[in-house]
Amino acid sequence: MNKTERIIREHDQFVLQTYTRNPVAAVRGEGSWIWDAEGKKYLDFFPGWGVSGLGHCHPRVVEAVREQAGKLLHMPNNFYNELAGRLARLIVEKSFPGRVFFGNSGAEANEGAIKLARRFGEPEGRFEILTMKASFHGRTLTTVTATGQEKYHSGFGPLPPGFRYLPFNDIGALEEAVSKKTVAVMLEPIQGEGGVHPASPEYAKKVREICDANNLLMIVDEVQTGMGRTGDFFAFQGYDVIPDLMTLAKALGGGLPIGALVVKEEFVGFLPPGTHASTFGGSPVVCAAALAVFQTMEEEGIIENVREKGDYLRRKLEELASDFPMIREIRGRGLMLGMELDREGKPIVDRCLEKGMIVNCTAGNVLRVMPACNITREEIDQAVGILREALSEEEI
Ligand SMILES: *Cc1c(COP(=O)(O)O)cnc(C)c1O
Repeated sequence: MNKTERIIREHDQFVLQTYTRNPVAAVRGEGSWIWDAEGKKYLDFFPGWGVSGLGHCHPRVVEAVREQAGKLLHMPNNFYNELAGRLARLIVEKSFPGRVFFGNSGAEANEGAIKLARRFGEPEGRFEILTMKASFHGRTLTTVTATGQEKYHSGFGPLPPGFRYLPFNDIGALEEAVSKKTVAVMLEPIQGEGGVHPASPEYAKKVREICDANNLLMIVDEVQTGMGRTGDFFAFQGYDVIPDLMTLAKALGGGLPIGALVVKEEFVGFLPPGTHASTFGGSPVVCAAALAVFQTMEEEGIIENVREKGDYLRRKLEELASDFPMIREIRGRGLMLGMELDREGKPIVDRCLEKGMIVNCTAGNVLRVMPACNITREEIDQAVGILREALSEEEI
């Protein structure tokens, strides 16, 4: 038995089997590359669902974590924490005037947004949150209910009430759905899990208008799209609208677990002291990592790189699309691209893995191409080469 087989055997025996896993045990990562327990190297074009937005083990993040780990790992949130304040300031300066609540995950950030919306609507008996079909907002009982995909709800009933699912990008459906019970509209600027579907600019603007006209909160889930991924610091900035609540997680911590709920100043009073909490939220080490992410984005021109390499990658994928009729469409923005196929994507993903490249397939037939935001041209060329090989081994 080799090392990978030993790792897999122990894992399968003692870890709850809630995931379907690839038979790779990664032991080291650097930039857009990881190495498995057998020493095989992979080009990672889907680093941790976007968590490793600056690639694996970015040296600045690693150094910041090392340094902070030697000073103070954790203090509870009934004391002050210099790093949390500094990080919240940076998030607010890059987004909109307001304040930040720190948790540990995307689901937890969304949970906070939903709780705030409930308190916002409570005086008038409003509670219903309109979310989108094919959305994804997390796996806690409430965020999975906010998620407009039945396959994630199955078997978990009774689900918390107060959610209604609308077809994405359908202005008429939204106008019709608003009622006396409605308190918020929640959406991803680009649906990731649902198959890389961007909100249309008209739709995003209309959501803002409808929220304003009906005193609803506009909640934007930027857990996947935030931190430069789409070529703007936050994806909403590409739409010329400002949400009332924004949630972040994935790339924010440079690989460490962090979630953030950003609340526009006029709504911060809806979660006063004692109403919401998270023991680990905003702990010094994860804040140090996130601060290093912000610093790196600035100093290494990450947004510019996303725009430039995003255009380049898109062109390369469109070349593939013109050579392979099985590719129906290339969608997305920046370095969040989806390639819709006329067939299941899993065999292609598996073949890429064999050839030393990690890529994701979502919604059955959409290859999700989402490399680190500091990806290079050479790495893109290598990845597109592997994709081309994997595609050419498909039957027409
Ligand atoms: C991943 C994701 C979440 C859930 O984040 P977790 O950290 O897994 O809880 C929520 N919303 C979106 C858009 C996501 O992509």
